[in-house]
Amino acid sequence: MTDKILSVNCPTCKTVVEWSDASPFRPFCSKRCQQIDFGDWVLEKHSIPGEPVFDLEDEDHSKSSH
Ligand SMILES: [Zn+2]
Repeated sequence: MTDKILSVNCPTCKTVVEWSDASPFRPFCSKRCQQIDFGDWVLEKHSIPGEPVFDLEDEDHSKSSH
């Protein structure tokens, strides 16, 4: 029988993580990456773009005299 070790890529840093008891933070490679990912998630939840601030004015001051 062949030992099939399933591995995944850490969503944070893309490191190959062995899917086993050796990787308690799977699919993350480490607790740090797990927290980073969670932090991103929290940040995204708190910064839902309601109204995109466009600083562009529709300036049509083209001085092209035709
Ligand atoms: Zn990682």
